[in-house]
Amino acid sequence: MRLSKLVAVLMLMAIVTGLAGCGTDPKPRANPEKVSEEKIVNVYTARHYDVDKKLFAKFTEETGIRVNVLEGKAEELIERIKREGSDTAADVFITVDGGILAAAKEQGILQPVWSSIINQNVPSHLRDRDNHWIGIATRARVIVYAKDRVNPQEITTYEDLADPKWKGKVLVRSSTSLYNVSLLASFIALHGEEKAEAWARGIVNNFARPPQGNDRDQARAIAAGIGDVAIMNTYYLGLMANSKEPEEAKVAQKIGVIFPDQATTGTHINISGIGLTRHSKHTENAIRLIEFLTGKEAQELIAAENFEFPVNPTAGKPELLRSWGEFKAQELNFDLLAQYNRKALEIFSKVGWK
Ligand code: FE
Repeated sequence: MRLSKLVAVLMLMAIVTGLAGCGTDPKPRANPEKVSEEKIVNVYTARHYDVDKKLFAKFTEETGIRVNVLEGKAEELIERIKREGSDTAADVFITVDGGILAAAKEQGILQPVWSSIINQNVPSHLRDRDNHWIGIATRARVIVYAKDRVNPQEITTYEDLADPKWKGKVLVRSSTSLYNVSLLASFIALHGEEKAEAWARGIVNNFARPPQGNDRDQARAIAAGIGDVAIMNTYYLGLMANSKEPEEAKVAQKIGVIFPDQATTGTHINISGIGLTRHSKHTENAIRLIEFLTGKEAQELIAAENFEFPVNPTAGKPELLRSWGEFKAQELNFDLLAQYNRKALEIFSKVGWK
């Protein structure tokens, strides 16, 4: 091969390789060209809790890195990040629900994070296997009951709620809530479609009223005597019990909590998580934020103020969470919540869970 020809071939190879590295690299590095970053980090978040704002302020205080927050619905934020492509301002994406986190990974908007601090802060089952997302808190979807009317020993499983003995007594929000969709998706993953459908049908037959309101409204309806048992997320119990509104705190006092399926597959838990976006321009700051949010101090604040369970095992928990004791949680890969999302929706519409 003549020299000029060889040079031409080499140049062509360089161009092709260069192109391949542009946007289609399947494993983008978390730390590309080292340029000193502006002291900002841009957060797109679908979590709307007061504690998150406090945490961002604390992070800025400690690091001098300003946190810009864009709030929105998870699906809309994912779409936006996709649409913005390499121009996106988003450095991290935060949301509730393992299914959505799995979907965000699937849609290619995230990239892996390599940090020994994060790996130490968060046990591997509470992170994506490739660290495309990292858990920041979990919550359990439990059964609550009227303390003055229900003997909690009568209910030990989610299945018990579908027993005709609770006809006209069961309160639960609409199936448009992802909390319920992921709950049913977990049952499909654990027990199969048929059993999941039978359960959903049993609950519909036991409805105290057509689904309405949010999780807290179910607790309020128990206090008002509309029904005796309800399904709700644990952190709402904490928020109600510690509410500044006396009415809300009174409601919380009237209800007890049951962690179902302790002898079998465990109570359904879901997770909030954070992921580094594929086209982040402030990766170092973003990783520092993730390290901070999963650190002991931030984790304790999440538990103390939002009553979610910390993912960092070294974090202390407030009295209420400790009073519930340790419980067995479902050991499911969170990806399965995404996998069975559609099926769960189909079942809900089939059985008439509005
Ligand atoms: Fe919520």
